[in-house]
This record gives sequence, C-alpha cells and structure tokens, in this order.
Amino acid sequence: MQYDVIVIGSGPGGYVAAIRCAQLGLKTAIVEKYNTLGGTCLNVGCIPSKALLDSSEHYHNAAHTFTTHGIKLDNLGIDFGQMIKRKQEVVDANTSGITYLMKKNKIDVHTGVGSFKDKNTINVKKADGTDTEITGTNVIIATGSKPSALPFLKIDKKRIITSTEALTLTEVPKHLVLIGGGVIGLELGSVYARLGAKVSVIEYMDSIIPTMDKALGRELQKVLKKLGMEFYLGHKVTGATVKGKEVTVTFDNPKGEKQELKGDYCLVAVGRVAYTDNLGLDKIGITVEERGRKITVNDHLETSVKGVYAIGDVIKGAMLAHKAEDEGTLVAEIIAGQKPHIDYNLIPGVVYTWPEVAAVGQTEEQLKAAGVKYKVGSFPFKASGRARASGDLDGFVKVLADATTDEILGVHMIGPRAADMIAEAVVAMEYRASAEDISRMSHAHPTYTEAMREACLAATDNRAIHI
Ligand code: FAD
Ligand code: NAD
Repeated sequence: MQYDVIVIGSGPGGYVAAIRCAQLGLKTAIVEKYNTLGGTCLNVGCIPSKALLDSSEHYHNAAHTFTTHGIKLDNLGIDFGQMIKRKQEVVDANTSGITYLMKKNKIDVHTGVGSFKDKNTINVKKADGTDTEITGTNVIIATGSKPSALPFLKIDKKRIITSTEALTLTEVPKHLVLIGGGVIGLELGSVYARLGAKVSVIEYMDSIIPTMDKALGRELQKVLKKLGMEFYLGHKVTGATVKGKEVTVTFDNPKGEKQELKGDYCLVAVGRVAYTDNLGLDKIGITVEERGRKITVNDHLETSVKGVYAIGDVIKGAMLAHKAEDEGTLVAEIIAGQKPHIDYNLIPGVVYTWPEVAAVGQTEEQLKAAGVKYKVGSFPFKASGRARASGDLDGFVKVLADATTDEILGVHMIGPRAADMIAEAVVAMEYRASAEDISRMSHAHPTYTEAMREACLAATDNRAIHI
C-alpha cells in the first residue's frame, strides 16, 4: 500500500490534514490506534466536556434562575446516568461523522498503533497482534497529548483521576478536590459544582487561568465563588493518598504551612504532555524536547527528517483543537506545493465556563512587558440591554489598542456567549482593524456583541455610549 501521505493520529489535527490532503488530490491514509476516530477532542476532550457543561448548565438554571423568569418546577432532580449516556451519544454521533468523512474523501483508515520502520514505512500493529506495513512519500505525525502527572502523586483512575475519568463518573462527587486552576479544572469543576458537588481548587500560581489576561482570572474567580467553588491560590500540592472512598490531598500554603483537604475524588488537571510513545521516532532520528516531550519542527512544521511533518498537541504552541486543525490544513497545502500561513498570535483561547471566557492577541501584561504603548477600552455586561434581558450580568469586554495607531492588539472578554463573540475580534485583528473601525460598524441591537463595539468606543477617546 503506497500513499502520497500517511497521517498518524485521527484527532482534529490528523483528520483535518487527511481531508485537506485528499481534497488536494493526494492519495491519503490515516492510522489510528483506537477503534473510534476523532482523537482526544472528540472522544475525551472538547466534545464530551461541552456536552456535560451544557447539561449541567441546564440543571443549574432550572434550579437557580428559572424562578426569576417566572418559571416554576416541582421535583427537580438529576439523572446523572442519563447525563453521561447523552454525553456518550453526542460523542458517538461526532466520531461516526469522522468515519463518514474519511469514506467520503476516499481516505484509507488503518486501525492500529503506527510506528516508523523507516522514514517512509509505517508499521501498523493491530489489537490482535498482526501487523501491516504501508508506505508514504510524506508522513504527518498527529499523535496528540496525554494528561501530565505529578511525580509524587499516583493517579489510580478511580479516586485520583484525570479529565478522562472525570467525564465518565458514575456519581456526582460530594467533594471534588481539583489540582490545577487551568482550563480543564475550571470547566469540569463547573460541571460538578453546578450539579451540587463541593469543589475546591488548589492552584500553584497566584491566579486562576494564569496565562490569560489577569483581569479575566479575577472576574472568573468571583463568578465561580458565587457558584460555591473555593480557591487555594499560590498553594503547592505535596501529595494525595486514597483510603477507601476518601482522598486526602496535602499541600503547602504560601507561608509554607502544611494543609490538607479530604474529598471523595481528586482531579489532577495540571496540563498535558505530547504523546509520542511507541512511534519509533528514534529509528528515524527524531528527538523530542526533554520538557513536555514535544517534537521540534521548522516554520513548515517539518521535523528534522525531510518529508516527515508534525502538527497539533505534539508540537509547540497552544494545545487547542482549532490550532491543530489549522496546522493540519497548513501541512497538507505545503505538501501540495502551496504557500499557506498561520498567524499564531490570532488563535483565540476559550474557557467554557458560564460566563464564558475568550481572548485573542496580546494580554495587558504582555504589552507592558514588551514596552508597547496601548490604551484600554472596557465595557461591562451589566450595562448591556441584551444581558439584562437574559440575566447574564457578570463580565466585560476589554479591548487593548495601540496608543498611536489605534490598531486592536488584544481582546479579552468574559461574558455570555463570549466563545462565539471572540470571532469578531479575530476577523477584525486579521484585517488589522482599529478600535474606531469596529466602533463605526453596525452591531445588531440588542445583542451581546454590542459590548464589543462599546469597548472599542471606550478605547477610542472614551466614547462609550451606555456607560
Ligand atoms: P489528539 O486529539 O490528541 O489526537 C491524537 C490521536 O492520535 C489520538 O486519537 C491517539 O489515539 C492517536 N495516536 C497516538 N499515537 C498513535 C500511534 N502511535 N498510532 C496510531 N494512533 C496514535 N481544545 C479546544 O480547542 N477546545 C476545547 O473546548 C477543548 N476542550 C478540551 C477538554 C478536555 C477535557 C481535554 C483533555 C482537551 C480539550 N481540548 C480542547 C484540547 C484538544 O482536545 C486538543 O488540543 C486536540 O485534541 C489536539 O488535537 P491533535 O490532533 O493534536 O491530537
Ligand atoms: P492548563 O495549563 O490550562 O492548566 C494547568 C494549571 O495547573 C495551571 O494553572 C498551572 O499553574 C496549574 N498547576 C501546574 N502544576 C501544579 C501543581 N503542582 N499544583 C497546583 N497547580 C498546578 O492545563 P489543563 O487545564 O490541564 O489543560 C490541558 C490543555 O488542554 C491546555 O493546554 C488547554 O489548552 C487544553 N484544553 C483546552 C480547553 C479549551 O480550549 N476550552 C479545555 C480543556 C483543555
């Protein structure tokens, strides 16, 4: 079996790369070790977590906000088994959609663990122990990532769990102790807090979502506290032990004093590491970075071996599905002789809490550190008519624009539907719009997007209308 391109891994990086290769007329194969396609994102990441976020948000609203809308419900309850079953149905529908897309695009799917025999030959080891060999002129490594572990803490996958197990629990925890106040921790923490669990977050840094603009972390923490979540910031976890159904997590506070929390589950969400196990990279001379185990690539996402590319979580940059997808498209087009480009500064980041958090471009902290002169325009959702109507009054849109040229350099928002609203900022920044450009464009009334226009007006000579 001879191909123009072999893709190893069928996550959003791999399957998009395969489809784009096929669209460009390249004979393509994809190798996936699991029986279902779609990788982390579709099976145990983006999609199942969003399904549970939506279900738990419905419950939370029914329990807490419906009465203010004049809706009464008697005997409200949670059928957690049904919630998990629905999540799985959502996952199954999505993964079988990828199988359909592979057939539609005439991409051969080889199920088994792929490893390099040489730079053009991939051995596919099936679950029954048999092997197939396929050859390709080009190979794209899209093997993704797996949860990071802490060296002093054993993840038993029953009481001390990762995001994968947190998506398939059989009961709502009574007390979930979360290690890591990043994206996974806060999304899955929100799910269980909404369903009634006590959720305690232990975070090493002095703010949650520490890599985003600091104003976002502060506002999100306020909102999540209202949901009942408690935070131990600047605290250092030292261990966790399981006794029966109880987990004890030990940690040091900022003064170095020892503390502990007891819960029935502990979710470890301290980042992810690139996954290159069993790939046989050493056979073709590709080395991985010591920290994070990422594969080094050049601007064309080509590894040190000609014709072997790598994309997505397994290489540098944000571990995001849409970043992996863009890189899949880029490599396919490079192989086909085109000259595509990705602006990594304009890849948005989203946290699907409620309110949602979304950002693109430079943070205020980054602009300060780089010595860039900037101006800030901010608009709170409590001044938005649309937000008043829906009752989503927390959060704001913050626009950072160049002090001299007015070009938008960063947009940071926390509020209702921020995940969808950030697209306007991406388009604006891709076309190098100024804050004034956006403030002169019509925004339908009443919509949440008016907050973006108002923040741009605020950045343009403090001209916001509704504050
Ligand atoms: P992956 O999706 O990890 O896919 C890699 C695939 O390669 C896997 O299917 C694996 O089985 C396969 N593989 C590995 N080695 C081999 C081998 N040797 N042979 C054959 N197959 C192999 N990102 C977002 O943008 N938005 C979100 O909302 C979001 N939510 C998330 C929620 C959670 C709980 C988690 C864990 C992650 C989330 N992410 C989200 C991150 C997102 O899932 C990843 O960035 C994305 O899946 C990376 O895509 P990828 O194609 O690089 O790798
Ligand atoms: P993360 O990097 O977002 O957060 C990890 C957090 O753990 C950080 O705040 C870090 O300071 C903290 N931490 C690290 N070591 C610690 C320790 N010993 N004690 C206490 N805290 C510690 O990582 P994550 O939440 O595990 O998510 C992994 C990846 O998955 C991320 O890169 C993210 O991009 C991706 N993801 C994205 C989404 C989304 O786009 N909505 C959702 C989930 C996951």
